[in-house]
Order: sequence, then structure tokens, then C-alpha cells
Amino acid sequence: LHNTIQELKGNIRVFCRVRPATTSKTTKSESTVALIKYPDQEGREIEFAHATESATGNQTEKRYPFTFDKVFQPSSKQEDVFEEISQLVQSALDGYNVCIFAYGQTGSGKTHTMEGPLNASGESMGMIPRSVLQIYQNAKALEEKGWKYTMEGQYVEIYNETIIDLLGNDGIDSSKKHEIRHGPNGKTTITDVTTEILTSPQRVATLLKKAAHNRTVGSTQMNERSSRSHCVFTLRLAGKNSITDESSEGVLNLIDLAGSERLSQSGATGDRLRETQAINKSLSCLGDVIYAISNKDQHIPYRNSKLTYLLQNSLGGNSKTLMFVNVSPLMSNFNETLCSLRFATKVNAC
Ligand code: ADP
Ligand code: MG
Repeated sequence: LHNTIQELKGNIRVFCRVRPATTSKTTKSESTVALIKYPDQEGREIEFAHATESATGNQTEKRYPFTFDKVFQPSSKQEDVFEEISQLVQSALDGYNVCIFAYGQTGSGKTHTMEGPLNASGESMGMIPRSVLQIYQNAKALEEKGWKYTMEGQYVEIYNETIIDLLGNDGIDSSKKHEIRHGPNGKTTITDVTTEILTSPQRVATLLKKAAHNRTVGSTQMNERSSRSHCVFTLRLAGKNSITDESSEGVLNLIDLAGSERLSQSGATGDRLRETQAINKSLSCLGDVIYAISNKDQHIPYRNSKLTYLLQNSLGGNSKTLMFVNVSPLMSNFNETLCSLRFATKVNAC
């Protein structure tokens, strides 16, 4: 049933998530909140509104309404969000290739949604640990029916069109180069990248910690880099049924995208400018690939960025895609919020 619903709706779903106004990092002076309304019962609509004054002094309200497959208000819990993606996560066990993206400006809650806070347990755990836990539990339950699964995890960062192995020693040994290879069987591999066999769901916490540590090694400006790189967590699930002799291979990719903010080009020069262009280019390449797939174009421009090339076998065809558009409720972020919601609306139409 889930698959039929997805087909009826188109292949790409978009969930909007609004983060709370105050976070552990914000100060009071920052927290002028935009007027946000959630007009419908179903939780699919969101409307930003603000008062404008015309030249003649008339007050009018300018409204920016958007509709998505789901809108999560600031009070939403990680559990509520996961509930809406759990079937999609499950389909990777059934042999589908799945991509779940988090798109939005820096500070909008992408990492919170995907990983959760570092050392998170229980309620605050993000989509990555929750997915691993669920897959692990479901795989265990399927053992009764003869299924035996192996679960392999990889975590890489794409920074400036270069792949960094977040589970390896790239921070120390920066001479390591990683290449993307697409096998004839539709299997994508990255050369020399660490692959962890996940034997217990608890193991994922250790991996996330290692990745966070690796991101800081060799990077003096950790926040700079984290807002400019894409992080791709990949779970490869291979199942074999000893009773029926069936087998299945599915891949679940959870992607924390680079910040979508349009950096003012004026101050950026040299490396910084090159980086800015690389980020903007790879985000627009992702958009191009999504549009080309939905348009059923003959040529899908996967090769135009490392990110789309890496995800080639998990985008389009039989694969399933979901995008979170993460937004901030703060007035100071209003323009970027509108940009994100407009981009997401275009994706939602795919
Ligand atoms: P991004 O990865 O998009 O740059 P973060 O996930 O780092 O943004 O979020 C920015 C700040 O807001 C962090 O301090 C984070 O803990 C907090 N935050 C984001 N979303 C939520 C949420 N839903 N609930 C509580 N805090 C959140
Ligand atoms: Mg982040």
C-alpha cells in the first residue's frame, strides 16, 4: 500500500520542519520571530505573514503560503518526525534505494534533524540513529521468516568536490583520495573508504561521535566547513532468505546538505569564492537532477557534481526520495526561509 501511495503522489516528497525560536545557542536579542500560521488540520500548510505599509500609509498583510506533504511545527519531537519517515526507512530493508535529504540554511536544524545533538539518546536522537535502530529491530523480526541481513555503514563528507572519509583517518592522512565507482550490478562504492559492519544498533552512536571528531580534525574553522559541506550517511542492507532462497539489496542514504544560504559574493575571494561556488553549484546540480528525473529527461546530469554522482543509483528509477526543508522562525532569517521554501516547492512538484 505504501508503494502505491507514493506512486500516486509522485516520487519525491517534501517535509517542512520549523525549528524552535530559541535554541541552546541563541540569545534573546536574536529571537524576533516571524508570524507563522499553520492553517490546516492535516498539517500540510504553512504561511508566513508580515505587515507592510504602502506609500499612502495603508497597512496590509503580506502573506506567503506554502503546502508540503507534511509540516512540522517547532514543538514537533524527533519521534513525531521519525514516525513519518519510518515506512520509507523500512522500504530499504525491502530492497529499495532511498535518499533522505535535509535542505536549508545554516542554523535551520538540518544536523539536529539528521543526527540529533552529539551523545543524544532517547528523545533527542535524530533520524540516523533512529533509522539504524528500526532497521536493526525489523531485521531481527524477519529472522523468523528465514531472512538474514548484513548492515554496512559508511559516512563521508563532500567538501569542495572532494570526498572525506568521516570514519577513517583522512584528517590525519590527507593524502588519501577517494573515487566513486559504479559497478555493473548497480552497486556504488567509494575507493578506500571505511565500511563498518553494524552488528548492534548502539554502534551508530560511536560512529557519529567519530565522524564529529573527524570533522574537527584538520579544520580550524569547524563551523565554516560544516556549513559548506554535504554529509552522506549510507546504510547498505543485504538480505538473504535461507528458506526461500530470495535475496534483497537496499540502500538508505541520509544526507545533511551544505547550507543553502546565498553568501554575499562581495567579500569572498580565492579559495573562499571557489568554495562558495562549489556549494551553490552542487545544490543547484541536485535540483537539476531532481527536475530532470521528474521530467523523464533522456539525459540526467548526475555527473555535474560529486554529490549527484555518488547518489546516482539512489536517485530516480525505482528509488525513493524525501527532502526535509528545514527553516528558522526568526525574522532575521526571513529572506533565506522564503528562498528555501520556494526551492522546496519546486522539488515538491517533481
Ligand atoms: P544546521 O545543521 O542546519 O546548521 P543545527 O541542526 O546545527 O542547524 O541547528 C542549529 C541550532 O538549533 C542547534 O543548536 C540545534 O541544537 C538547534 N535546533 C535545531 N532544530 C531544533 C529542534 N527541532 N529542537 C531543538 N533545537 C533545535
Ligand atoms: Mg549542520
